[in-house]
Amino acid sequence: MGKPTGFMEYGRKEPGYRPVQDRVRDYRAVELRFAEDGITEQAARCMDCGTPFCHGCGCPLQNVIPEWNDHVYHGRWRDALEVLLATNNFPEFTGRICPAPCEGSCVLGINREPVTIRQIELAIIERAFELGLVKPRPPAVRRGERVAVIGSGPAGLAVADTLNRRGFRVVVYDSAARAGGILRYGIPEFKLEKVIVDRRIALMEAEGVDFEMGVRVGEDLSYHYLRGRFDAICLCAGARQPRDLAVPGRELAGIHFAMDYLTQQNRRLAGESVDPDRAILADGKSVLVIGGGDTGSDCVGTAIRQGAVQVKQVEILPQPPPVRSESTPWPMWPYVMRISSSHKEGCERHWAVATKKFKGANGRVTAVCTVDVEWATPTGAVRPVMREVPGSDREWKADLVLLAMGFTGPKPNRMIADLGLRTGTGGVIWRDAANMTNVPGIFVSGDMSMGASLVVRAIRDGRQAAAGIEAYLDSRGISGESGGEECS
Ligand SMILES: Cc1cc2nc3c(=O)[nH]c(=O)nc-3n(C[C@H](O)[C@H](O)[C@H](O)COP(=O)(O)OP(=O)(O)OC[C@H]3O[C@@H](n4cnc5c(N)ncnc54)[C@H](O)[C@@H]3O)c2cc1C
Ligand code: SF4
Repeated sequence: MGKPTGFMEYGRKEPGYRPVQDRVRDYRAVELRFAEDGITEQAARCMDCGTPFCHGCGCPLQNVIPEWNDHVYHGRWRDALEVLLATNNFPEFTGRICPAPCEGSCVLGINREPVTIRQIELAIIERAFELGLVKPRPPAVRRGERVAVIGSGPAGLAVADTLNRRGFRVVVYDSAARAGGILRYGIPEFKLEKVIVDRRIALMEAEGVDFEMGVRVGEDLSYHYLRGRFDAICLCAGARQPRDLAVPGRELAGIHFAMDYLTQQNRRLAGESVDPDRAILADGKSVLVIGGGDTGSDCVGTAIRQGAVQVKQVEILPQPPPVRSESTPWPMWPYVMRISSSHKEGCERHWAVATKKFKGANGRVTAVCTVDVEWATPTGAVRPVMREVPGSDREWKADLVLLAMGFTGPKPNRMIADLGLRTGTGGVIWRDAANMTNVPGIFVSGDMSMGASLVVRAIRDGRQAAAGIEAYLDSRGISGESGGEECS
């Protein structure tokens, strides 16, 4: 432990955000970073508890948090980096956009504010880049086996990075123009600047990972073709089938899925072409976002930057409590009201509102009709049941409606039938404990098999899939270490 009395001497501090009036004028990152003395003080708050719940039950990657905190407090950045990279391939992503379940299970959080773990993680990796400690580290020995990874989101990147470090030859295929999956095309620039994604991809390329972009596997390239050229394949194609709203008027122009809207803006900022006839823009419009989660919040921030006249967000579920709900006691991830940086930029939020229909004129949406709902758990039932409140009908002016109600599972893809893959609820791909599907040698990782989740879970699952692939290839003994060659 860096400083035994630190948790009593210092309160939790966060670096904060750029002022709203500045940040809404551009798409640059909104969150600030700690100066070095600030981060040392925050690391000193770690109590190095006997049972570090942050590490064991909070962080899906099982990041060894108390150890980094000690190294950071003493200024041992190289040691902190080594501990961090032992469990997390991409701390520069999680340090920026992880909702930090670790902080929900920090022991200090029982009666005080938890340690600012996510910010410390970010400080370690960014300081390491600044100090030149993060350099390409190609494997010392190359193995003979080749692995194809389909999808370059965080799961695919974690599979590729982990296997490449173990000496396998890895090719990542993706249908998009650039690598990163939702990190690149879903999450807005103001939460995760794309230079951060570029920096990691460049590092992976320098370490020997090949990226083949603009290839729709299953369409442009068959899985059978890949099977003939690779010793194992890992499917990491995400779960991007959006949940739709089948109510009257859904066919009107001006109603779009959130991911289509966010992808366009990220493409625009990257200088990629966007068909002007299909452009989805919020400038001068009254925007209604349907869905109160993170994707909806990303739409809010984007619409505000595009110059929307007003942005409102409705959610069918009730408003969460202001403090941790009794249903999620410590050390569980708290069910609590969350306010994103985008919400603070000028959005009106409403809960327990169900959409009944869309109204329009000349084929374009002009308004959304809703009714308020109540949620109550009937005696003997386990889950609450929704009931419409009589006479609570409302009409919301809207010329742009963004549907952000989550994802139902992987998008339809020919490969699933081509390969005869077993699927589960929502079409997610079944896998065993080593991430292997019912077809030997075909593995799956990330949202495609877990359902829509988090970046940190995608990385964890990618690491697990890589371990499964290595064990599978070892068991087949194709070439193993004996077939390896020294890297120059
Ligand atoms: C708008 C939005 C914001 C989010 N914000 C956060 C956040 O702040 N924090 C957080 O932790 N999580 C967030 N998430 C969730 C997180 O981004 C996902 O859980 C994570 O990206 C899943 O990773 P993945 O690698 O499984 O899939 P994806 O990131 O979806 O990547 C799948 C990749 O597969 C490619 N692909 C698909 N089919 C094919 C094919 N046939 N051939 C070739 N390539 C193919 C796609 O082009 C894509 O690049 C957010 C999600 C969304 C939608
Ligand atoms: S990856 Fe997320 S959960 Fe794990 S230590 Fe970092 S912020 Fe916490």
